[in-house]
Amino acid sequence: MKDSFGREIDYIRISVTDRCNLRCSYCMPKRGIQLAPSEEILTFEEIVWICQAATELGIRKFKITGGEPLVRPGCPQLVGMIKRLPGVRQVTLTTNGILLDRYLDRLIENGLDAVNVSLDTRDEKVYRQITGFDGLSAVRAGINRAAEKGLRVKINSVLQKGVNDREWMSLAELAKDMPIDVRFIEMMPIGLGKRYEGVSGKTVLLNLRKKYPGIKPDHTFHGNGPAAYCRIPGFAGSIGFISAVHGQFCESCNRIRLTAKGELKPCLCYETAVNVKEMLRGPIYEDWEKKKEALKSMIRQAVGQKPERHCFEAKDQITEGRQMVQIGG
Ligand code: SAM
Ligand code: SF4
Repeated sequence: MKDSFGREIDYIRISVTDRCNLRCSYCMPKRGIQLAPSEEILTFEEIVWICQAATELGIRKFKITGGEPLVRPGCPQLVGMIKRLPGVRQVTLTTNGILLDRYLDRLIENGLDAVNVSLDTRDEKVYRQITGFDGLSAVRAGINRAAEKGLRVKINSVLQKGVNDREWMSLAELAKDMPIDVRFIEMMPIGLGKRYEGVSGKTVLLNLRKKYPGIKPDHTFHGNGPAAYCRIPGFAGSIGFISAVHGQFCESCNRIRLTAKGELKPCLCYETAVNVKEMLRGPIYEDWEKKKEALKSMIRQAVGQKPERHCFEAKDQITEGRQMVQIGG
């Protein structure tokens, strides 16, 4: 399905919860957020209905996110429910990794295609400072076992000036011995992210080049997102850069988002959303075919509302006022 700027939209990020077992400083306030009451959160059945309608419009790739998706009971089963739908090419998960080791086997049994693990530091003290918890060893256990099991693993790291900005090398070196990609994501000015100064992908690349002069662009296929990749000779995995702020990749945007409360979001930057929950729960559409047609028309509407580009560089124009934990990243 194409949007009004001719971009092919074939990817949806689905947030399954606004709950999280960490408190990353740039994503979730220390005291937490006003959680949605559980009846406000889409059921798995409702999520699968939306996915089914989406497949009929050409959405092929599905990412489960949150909050922390693995705190929602049954998350591995949801992966299986989506994976079994005709037309689904890929179901992946983004997680903070705390519960990954515990649920890994069930995720793989249910057909998970790949996992992204968010990890901003390899230092226990800095991990506690950023996330509010001691969890580094659990995350490392999840990453190691996922890689051993042959699951595709990507690490997502957000660098903050004065906190973990010197860790570009130790994080990149996670790709040295294991075939995992390490991606540096620029801090985005959404919610609490506005308060923090990030590090541009360009700066990280310049630093890496000083240490590894042989680093060069890697044009092999790594997935469907906006990351640009490089390869360091001798490394098993690649290094990626998701330069959301300094690099303008909106022209290749391929996605929409579904929040846990049932809003389809055309763009991360703006509050514009199409709420599908009321329709899904309304009495008029008890007939599945009618419900599916209504869903398809709402998905088309959200895709049609995709703006040409975000406005991260003009913060006063950002209308999304929620925290990233409520959206899904
Ligand atoms: N809890 C899961 C996790 O941490 O991967 C999934 C949800 S989290 C919101 C998804 C991603 O968004 C994480 O990689 C996180 O680092 C990133 N994120 C959160 N706030 C951000 C911000 N302001 N700028 C850039 N990335 C952000
Ligand atoms: Fe939770 Fe992920 Fe946000 Fe950290 S980045 S607070 S793990 S949702």
